[in-house]
Order: sequence, then structure tokens, then C-alpha cells
Amino acid sequence: MLIDFHTHCFPNEIANAAIKKLSFVSGGLKAHTSGTIKSLKASMEKHGVDISLVLSIATNAEQQKNVNDFAYELSKKEGIVAFGSVYPRAEDALFELERIKDMGLKGVKLHPDYQHFSADDEKLKPLYKKISSLGLITVFHTGLDYGFPPPYGATPEKMEKALLWFDSPVVAAHFGGLGCHDEVLKRLAGKDIFFDTSFGYGTMPKFYAEKIVEKHGADRILFGTDTPWHTAKMEMRLLNTLGLSETELDKIKYKNALKLLGMDE
Ligand SMILES: [Zn+2]
Repeated sequence: MLIDFHTHCFPNEIANAAIKKLSFVSGGLKAHTSGTIKSLKASMEKHGVDISLVLSIATNAEQQKNVNDFAYELSKKEGIVAFGSVYPRAEDALFELERIKDMGLKGVKLHPDYQHFSADDEKLKPLYKKISSLGLITVFHTGLDYGFPPPYGATPEKMEKALLWFDSPVVAAHFGGLGCHDEVLKRLAGKDIFFDTSFGYGTMPKFYAEKIVEKHGADRILFGTDTPWHTAKMEMRLLNTLGLSETELDKIKYKNALKLLGMDE
């Protein structure tokens, strides 16, 4: 079994434009799907992915409701789990979190660079507390983002601080922080946080992938790709070079995700 903890797709009407724009701002990244749910499903089929978690983000207050309604519709589909999102500066962000919970979505994605905040800003405390009280999982984009100049909103240093304000599971995407491997090792590896493996292939020295997995342990690492930007085949290539046991690989490929999502009963 294979669970992809980090994928994206967009409403059909805007998928093409969204992919074009994201690819352009990120320096021409190649998209491996057309951005629709249909092509995500086709990619899953092709690469042997059984379940994909689709992560969407609200990049402004007005978008929140639509983003979460889209996530809710996706969550009804076979093989798809979807998280919601809130725009932290939105006046009704805390209320929207309750709506996310009521819709049965199990978590939220936050991306400080797209959502104009810093993960360690004290102003975020009420939001994190609300997320915690609802028992939602939070996936943070962490580290650099190819679409933005520095400074970045969720560096390992900032995440180390933010983590203290959460009482529910936190996932730091991209091996704990894209392009911040030394800091991940120093500040986050071994802590009570999950890392996903998305966008790791070809973007980090194998040395760091090995060190991070070794120090953090296989129990809190989740297979992820960042489809459409990478594929499961690409990320498995990296994972298969890390000298992990069958037991460790199974945890990373699906067991940890099933447990975290409460789907293991
Ligand atoms: Zn992503």
C-alpha cells in the first residue's frame, strides 16, 4: 500500500491557469498532472498510489469558504483525503475551523508565504489553540518556497517555536524544511512533529535525507510527493536509496499515515 500525504489539485475551471501561474513563479517547474482531480487520480493509478491527501490553501479571506467546500467535495471521492485551510488574518478564521471540523475534514494546510504570516508570530496563538482544541492535524509548508524570495515564514527555527503552541499533530512538509536541512537536523529532528518526504528527490543531498530519517526515526515520517510537481516514482527513488528496513519503509509508505488519519481501525 502507498499513501501520498502531500498532493495538490484545483477546481476544474481554474486548474490550467493555476498550474501555469505556479510553474512560472517557481522558475518553470514541470507539472506532472494537469492540476485536475481527474489527472491526479490518473497519476495515482499510474504510480500505484492508493490514497492521496489533497492539500489546498486559502490565499485570502474571501477564498476560505470556497477552498473548504472544494476540499469537502474532494473528500467524498474514493482514494482521496482532503484537508481544509484558513487564512489566518481572516476575521472568521476560528469559525471556519469549526466548519472544517463539522465537514469531517481531518486537518488544515497552512503556508505562511502564501498566507502572509510568520509561523512563530504570537498573533497565531489563538488559531493554533483552536486547531488543537478541535484535534485537527496541521500540515505546514516548511522551508524555502521556489515561488518566493526570502525571508521565509516557516523555517525550522520558526517551527521549533510554533510547535510549542500546538496540542494536536503538526506535519512539516519537505523533510522538515525545503533547503534547510542543517537547521532541520539541529532544531526539529527527534521532536514531536511529523515530516513528509515531498519534493525531496533531486532537491537535497542524499546525505541529509539519511541523517534526518535516522535522527527523527521512521515513526514520524510520511511518504509524500507534492504532485503535480513531483511524482511517487521520483520520491520512491530517493527513499529506496536510504538503506531503510522493510518495516521502516512500510511505516513511511502508509502505516504512519493510516494511524495519523485514524484510518487504521
Ligand atoms: Zn505542496
